Amino acid sequence: SCTADDVVAALRAGADVVAAHRGELVEMDREIGDADHGENMDRGFRAVMAKLDTSSPDTPAAALKLAATVLISSVGGASGPLYGTALLRAASAAGDAAELDGPAVAALLQSGLDGVVARGHAELGDKTMVDVLVPAAEAAGNAAEGGQDSAGVLRSAAQAAQEAAENTRPLVARKGRASYLGERSAGHVDPGARSTALLLGAFAESAG
Ligand code: ADP
Ligand code: MG
Ligand code: MG
Repeated sequence: SCTADDVVAALRAGADVVAAHRGELVEMDREIGDADHGENMDRGFRAVMAKLDTSSPDTPAAALKLAATVLISSVGGASGPLYGTALLRAASAAGDAAELDGPAVAALLQSGLDGVVARGHAELGDKTMVDVLVPAAEAAGNAAEGGQDSAGVLRSAAQAAQEAAENTRPLVARKGRASYLGERSAGHVDPGARSTALLLGAFAESAG
């Protein structure tokens, strides 16, 4: 199961993957946005790591809330408040539990998705991170029902996420900056969809 230390380790893995893919995310956002998604995400996750140098959250919820607060205050773009809201909702869902089992992790993902939708009002097919979070949360729910533990649930979510990110390529954006391009947004993977898939992949790998 997943403890506060596991959540911190997952956040660290997230920071690493965002740093490693910073340039790629910038280039993706250059195609259909304003070329800052990699910088936004890298700045945010480096700030989360800096905060974790001086505080050690003692529950999964506290770790998630710390990350949420830092992302909201350090990321200028649309993605900061959206990821921040996702993590805040996930923290609420985690409650004061010391450890999260498979069903709890699946509930966390569903709550994160609900937070992104509440904040950004994107629907499935609008070519945003929601297009990755919906299938990821569904796969997580199915894995939990199938008796998977927290690591197995994250693995299933991450697998669904990789494919779902690629599936945003033909879509026409209806939310965020990419929507200003109309039909010209088709033919490119959405950068936020890609970063969500990268993060879920890192969380799953970190869970082992
Ligand atoms: P900005 O667009 O402000 O420069 P970023 O480049 O950091 O912010 O993030 C862009 C990503 O945010 C998009 O690729 C998309 O996935 C996501 N996004 C933008 N608006 C929304 C929304 N309303 N709902 C969900 N996701 C969104
Ligand atoms: Mg941008
Ligand atoms: Mg921007």
